[in-house]
Amino acid sequence: MSYLGNLMAGIRTTCQGLKLTSTYMIRNVKPSNRFALEYPFEKLDIDKVTHRGLHEYDVDRCISCSLCAKACPVDCIYIESVGKGKKAIMTRFEVDYSKCLFCALCVPPCPSECIVLGERYSLPGHTRDDMIVKFHEGGFPIQVTSEHADGMAKEFQDEGLYASKKKERADHGVPTHEEQDPAQRR
Ligand code: SF4
Ligand code: SF4
Repeated sequence: MSYLGNLMAGIRTTCQGLKLTSTYMIRNVKPSNRFALEYPFEKLDIDKVTHRGLHEYDVDRCISCSLCAKACPVDCIYIESVGKGKKAIMTRFEVDYSKCLFCALCVPPCPSECIVLGERYSLPGHTRDDMIVKFHEGGFPIQVTSEHADGMAKEFQDEGLYASKKKERADHGVPTHEEQDPAQRR
């Protein structure tokens, strides 16, 4: 195609794109026709069956077996602990969401059912480090549990492991924080 032909084709396709964009813009002015939500003031309802959001994790019930990390296809779960088994103290359980695929392959291998994909999906930040969530600090606890997980939680509770592990994590210099407000991170 000649130079002039190329130029005309460029102008024609640009006009076609602008026409389409302006059609949607005009249509969107009417509230009933809107395609976009004013996030974060408005949010879509989550399909609780198919949604895969940020992880939820019970740091005290984790036995540091690393099966979740081994199952992860992109190696984005980082685990460091003192001891193994029920008495393991998690000093690092981080997920790098700049790599995570939300595939959920880390969930089924967990013998403690202490890691699930939850409803939260918002993780704003300016650096790659902001995409790393430090679950060992106690945020993002599991909201919906299973019968097996509840049974294990009771066992850990009865043995006083929840209380002792919290203290031991503090002794190892792991900072803790109260549960983050889920509404802030969705
Ligand atoms: S959801 Fe998939 S990619 Fe993300 S941490 Fe789990 S296994 Fe890894
Ligand atoms: S598989 Fe479960 S118990 Fe094992 S390290 Fe991962 S979260 Fe902890």
